[in-house]
Amino acid sequence: MILHRHCPLCKSSDLSGLALDTRRRGPHISRVKCENCGLVFANPMADAQELEKYYTEYYEKDHYQAVDYKDLI
Ligand SMILES: [Zn+2]
Repeated sequence: MILHRHCPLCKSSDLSGLALDTRRRGPHISRVKCENCGLVFANPMADAQELEKYYTEYYEKDHYQAVDYKDLI
């Protein structure tokens, strides 16, 4: 997990909470907005190890398997 204290674009520390998805499993469930430049980004942000785990384990078993997307493509 990477917790940003500053905006990755303009480096401002003026960040405010924007959205939180409490139903979704996996990384990227919270968003913050930079009040200086307007960038909205996931924070905390998943690191490479978390993304690898998510895409190899949860991704296939979460929403997409429920709709049998593999049968559609
Ligand atoms: Zn910014």
